[in-house]
Amino acid sequence: MSQEFLGRDEQSQDAFSRAVEQAASNVIAHFGTLEQCYSGMPPTQTARLFDGIDLCPEQGRALKDVLDWVGANILRNSIAVTHPHTMAHLHCPPLIPAVAAEVMIAASNPSMDSWDQAPAATYLEQEMVKWLLGLFGLGGSGDGVFTSGGTQSNFMGLLLARDVFAREQLGWNIQTKGLPPQASRLRILCSEMAHFSVQKSAAILGLGYDAVVPVPADADRQMDPEALRQTIARLREQELLPFALVGTAGTTDFGSVDPLHALADVAAQEKLWLHVDAAYGGALMLSRKHSRLLSGIERADSVTVDFHKLFFQPISCSALLIKDAADWEVIRYHADYLNPEENENAGVLDLVTKSIQTTRRFDGLKIFVTLQTLGRERFAALVDGVLALAEEGAQLVRNDPDLQLMAPPRMASVVFRYAAQGLDETTLEHINTVARRQLLLDGEALIGMTRVDDHACVKFTLMNPRTRAEDLSRILEAFKRCARSLL
Ligand SMILES: *Cc1c(COP(=O)(O)O)cnc(C)c1O
Repeated sequence: MSQEFLGRDEQSQDAFSRAVEQAASNVIAHFGTLEQCYSGMPPTQTARLFDGIDLCPEQGRALKDVLDWVGANILRNSIAVTHPHTMAHLHCPPLIPAVAAEVMIAASNPSMDSWDQAPAATYLEQEMVKWLLGLFGLGGSGDGVFTSGGTQSNFMGLLLARDVFAREQLGWNIQTKGLPPQASRLRILCSEMAHFSVQKSAAILGLGYDAVVPVPADADRQMDPEALRQTIARLREQELLPFALVGTAGTTDFGSVDPLHALADVAAQEKLWLHVDAAYGGALMLSRKHSRLLSGIERADSVTVDFHKLFFQPISCSALLIKDAADWEVIRYHADYLNPEENENAGVLDLVTKSIQTTRRFDGLKIFVTLQTLGRERFAALVDGVLALAEEGAQLVRNDPDLQLMAPPRMASVVFRYAAQGLDETTLEHINTVARRQLLLDGEALIGMTRVDDHACVKFTLMNPRTRAEDLSRILEAFKRCARSLL
């Protein structure tokens, strides 16, 4: 018998337990104990870590040895997302209960495409979706599906928007006939701060990057509704066909939120599909203190939520929610072997009917286990905590004459730069770019970079509830030390 698979025999069950324990103790030994957020190994060297390794040896070796090798070589040279000084991206430390759920997901390996591959899991995912619809105020006719990430959720939102528009306004079925003759005139509106996945989606949807019309944002990095109205009027004059408006609830760099009520008013007047990208900000809905920042999201036609950001879930975990379940019609497909129409008529739920993926992970379990374990209050405290920390970080920057805060802190983001008196812009450009890299190679901190008004800037993205204000002070001091050393 193959002991490599779990079975009813005690031996394979022992092998399973040992394997999971070995993996866990390796994570602790080689990752949980890391003193720095990165080993400092440069890319030229990481590319050579595997030189001379036979990737498919004729004979295997003990799992423990392999896991130890992975620990010592891969985990040790990972970004320690659990380290309080890791704060570059919207890249979170995963909650322990969610990691435990991952073990169950991997071991039971349900596939979310059809009920007969995931009976209980299908209905739990559906319950999580219903709960999310309630949380976001999307109402009883809505629906949703888990996806691989915000990129896929945004893509699906725009796919539905395009196809529903074609069906209702152009009398054209894109699913069967492909793009309509008017395709080159279709336009998507979003703020200039929106995530690049909007452009990518437009390209994949056959509309091209040029179909995305950026609307100017105001000084607070929120879409300007007046500019939006003017942009739409200009498009209509040119006989172009705007069909979708993307609002962002938490821009990737700044955490700013577009004025969702104003966007919803425009979308209603102009008959545009309103998609709200809440990949970053969605978790705020669980906070009594901050949920009103997303007010108006309940008026969206579709919403992107990422759980592998401020919901602290292991990658991947995301969902697309829609206001009207009837809109799935435009992507419906029935495969005889998987989700025949008879199933649907008999009330069997085959989730593949509303997904662009076929085989799909049971990511909904992680968020279920998380919420059951922490409860809303404790979870909200984590979110509130990182938002409060961002305020503290911004205050430290404001109080420092050598630093310049580039925007008020929003969500968990603080964007700033080194800007000591008397230095010209060319020098500042160089210093801010190099000092950030130096901090990483020294293992001191991993902070983000971006550009604001054509200045090189750095940012804190505070995704770790274990980070303290003292950590931020220390990092700012180290950053200034690096910066000065470059002068
Ligand atoms: C992260 C992010 C995305 C992309 O999500 P992935 O899960 O990385 O695919 C989209 N929109 C916003 C605003 C984001 O912050």
